[in-house]
Amino acid sequence: MTSTIDPKTIGRPIRPRRHVRTLTGYLPETDAAGKEQWPRGEEEVWRAGIRGLDKTVDDITKSVVNHVQTSLARQAYNIDDLGAYQAAALSVRDNLLVNWNETQLNYTKKNPKRAYYLSLEFLMGRTLDNALLNLGLKDEYKDGVQKLGFSIEDILDKERDAALGNGGLGRLAACYLDSGSSTELPLWGYGLRYKYGIFQQLISPEGNQLEAPDPWLDNQNPWELPRLDVTYEIRFYGRSERSHDGSGRAVWAGGQEVVAVAYDVMIPGYGTKTTNNLRLWESRSKRGFDLNSFNAGNYEGAVESSNSADAITSVLYPNDHTSFGKELRLKQQYFWTAASLADIMRRFKNQNKPLAQFPDFVAIQLNDTHPTLAIPELMRILIDEEDLTWDQAWTIVTNTFFYTNHTVLPEALEKWPVPLLEHVLPRHLQIIYDINLFFLQAVEKKYPGDRERLARMSLIEEGQPKQVRMAHLAAIGSRKVNGVAELHSDLVRTTILKDFVEFEGLSKYSNVTNGITPRRWLDQCNPELSALITKTLAVDKNVWLKDLKLLKGLIPHAEDADFRKAWAAIKQRNKERLAAHVQSTLGLTVRTDAMFDVQIKRIHEYKRQTLNILGVIHRYLTLKVMTPEEKAKVNPRVVFFAGKAAPAYYIAKLTIRLIVNVAKVINGDPDTKDYLQLYFLPDYSVSLAEVLIPASDISQHISTAGTEASGTSNMKFCLNGGLLLGTVDGANIEIAEEVGESNVFFFGHLTPAVEDLRYQHLYHPVPIEEKCPALANVLNQISSGLFGNDDIYEPLLNTIRQNDYYLLSDDFDSYIAALAMVDEAYQDKEEWIKKSINTTANMGKFSSDRAILEYAESFWNIEPTPFK
Ligand SMILES: *Cc1c(COP(=O)(O)O)cnc(C)c1O
Repeated sequence: MTSTIDPKTIGRPIRPRRHVRTLTGYLPETDAAGKEQWPRGEEEVWRAGIRGLDKTVDDITKSVVNHVQTSLARQAYNIDDLGAYQAAALSVRDNLLVNWNETQLNYTKKNPKRAYYLSLEFLMGRTLDNALLNLGLKDEYKDGVQKLGFSIEDILDKERDAALGNGGLGRLAACYLDSGSSTELPLWGYGLRYKYGIFQQLISPEGNQLEAPDPWLDNQNPWELPRLDVTYEIRFYGRSERSHDGSGRAVWAGGQEVVAVAYDVMIPGYGTKTTNNLRLWESRSKRGFDLNSFNAGNYEGAVESSNSADAITSVLYPNDHTSFGKELRLKQQYFWTAASLADIMRRFKNQNKPLAQFPDFVAIQLNDTHPTLAIPELMRILIDEEDLTWDQAWTIVTNTFFYTNHTVLPEALEKWPVPLLEHVLPRHLQIIYDINLFFLQAVEKKYPGDRERLARMSLIEEGQPKQVRMAHLAAIGSRKVNGVAELHSDLVRTTILKDFVEFEGLSKYSNVTNGITPRRWLDQCNPELSALITKTLAVDKNVWLKDLKLLKGLIPHAEDADFRKAWAAIKQRNKERLAAHVQSTLGLTVRTDAMFDVQIKRIHEYKRQTLNILGVIHRYLTLKVMTPEEKAKVNPRVVFFAGKAAPAYYIAKLTIRLIVNVAKVINGDPDTKDYLQLYFLPDYSVSLAEVLIPASDISQHISTAGTEASGTSNMKFCLNGGLLLGTVDGANIEIAEEVGESNVFFFGHLTPAVEDLRYQHLYHPVPIEEKCPALANVLNQISSGLFGNDDIYEPLLNTIRQNDYYLLSDDFDSYIAALAMVDEAYQDKEEWIKKSINTTANMGKFSSDRAILEYAESFWNIEPTPFK
């Protein structure tokens, strides 16, 4: 039996266009002279007639009560904080929708070139507070819910984080969307609506990380709009054949089809009406079962398909900086890129412009290699469905895509086994082979006979099995390639993509240093500091929050003792806020008269949390042998860790276990507990970061040189006046350039030394006792059972004793010296506060507004498109 489905319908909307009409009396009519006439006179009246923004406290209470009664179907005497949160959120959503609708109408009218940010992760955190800030309705809602008997803080606290990301890459995407709307750029995000976001992290009594599902959608999510009318069919498996219509065109037929359903999330700008869209796809089975499997006589497969369709968007893979081959992950990537491209193509086609103009209206940014299948997918659409020639299609593709690289770690470079691709996406594999053929022919022409170069540059890595190198495909299919900090972009150009730079020219390979949104990462998380800055700069906060270089105006105030006092008092209250949080969530009492030292990020060997915990143990051992007089001079320190380890990353999980068990010993030791405390805060998230960062005196960004592409939490801490202890790596370098080297604490070997050191470890190893006695002592203390009487930590310790790939033994002494310098600097409180003020004052460069405008101007060629 043959398939009844026309292969040319893949990626097309499955519902016919509806017949739409205009609500009578609600739109302007064009008069004889071609002028718009408003039926009710004023445009304002029209807007109010549809639904205006709530403006007064009265509007707000009315709208909240209305949602209690209607959307939640609950009685006024039966509302808890969660119910109040939901009603308030729905009411805020109504307001966002007013602006969102007008934004989309404005784009439809003006038809600007648009940019699309494709990211497999969006680590959004909470929305309500941010939406209130951006709408300028924070005070009104505060008063409104208070009038109804609730506190805004309690309500805000009921919201669950939208944690559709692992770490920095996903949070970057969220900051960029905020900045896109705030700078009024026509920028949309495309991602997946995972039913379960990043796992919840629990810590067992032994100190093991346990993972539990994150049911973030259990309570209805007020921030998304299901668009059941925006759906596309997506195909997997099947066969690639030649069509029988005489054209010789390839057709992809058979296999499994699932339906992509759009969910829209509104992204409001700060101080603008622009409210862009983040479109997240959900996978559903097509009509409950899969007709093709059924037709093929596979009844079992047919009824199973409902499960397998749901599976595609069920979980976010909890991996960060690892590449791995999993069929479901590949299906996620294709499902998402195919749905997004179909949607973009439909929007473009509505304009009735020739396809050659596609790159004049569309720019697509690939956030890492995860969406790289978009490149062969656009080729497939243009060649197989639109009948363009290969050259016409390739010209369009290579003017549409832009690729951001996020890592040079070899183990993190994405590769897909050829047999798997052939099975899941047979037509795309053919296209990838053709891209490779034409590409290698061009390389061969420029470097005749250089077979090694061809092998290095090929999209296909030889081996058992052969693999497709996604970074190579992303690079040659894109107009621009960038790294995310100066050092990282240099490494991209001189290591993993060196041959490509030689072949294609340097100008294609550039840099955009990451940024963070100062709305969330200063104004929202540190409201007192924001208020002090506003008062001191004597400009409205909506001016400096959108022009962050204005922070430089703080520099002269560093010399003002009263200002320093106010600055330090805010830091102190932020420490107390953090301590209260730890008290209420963990039942532990944190002393707040100490230096707060924080390292929060994914747990990974390259980020070297191990170096930090070994340093803590070293401090502990030192304290243990001090006399009371010596101890009296020690400034107390509280060390905080937070971060998740990938569930299968054994060494990272051992690091967590070590931290938790060291904390038990140190915090319970009467000899030392007044001088050193240690906490591992479970379940790191955006919301936890918002409490930790403003409380930090010093934060640690101590990756092995050359391994951290940029880092963005380093920027968040420094923006909040926390000083930086770090290696000469990623964006640490540019932060030091901005704030001055005297205000950061650098240590460790530099990037050019790393290769040689690793070579020595392999071929001329020096015993650790000889090379670094202090470190050897710490390792031996762990082995001897100081933090638990078994061999559990040996595999972790052996990574240092044996290869020491991340160079802990090379950097340990200078790390300890840097910690001592931090202690010494902290003794002079006034100087320390000056450093803190000067750090914040010089962080203007790291606004994500600056970064997104660099992408817009140098890459995408899109422009701010405001409306009144
Ligand atoms: C900023 C941020 C990150 C990135 O942290 P790095 O230290 O740059 O790796 C990760 N997770 C969350 C929740 C963040 O807010």
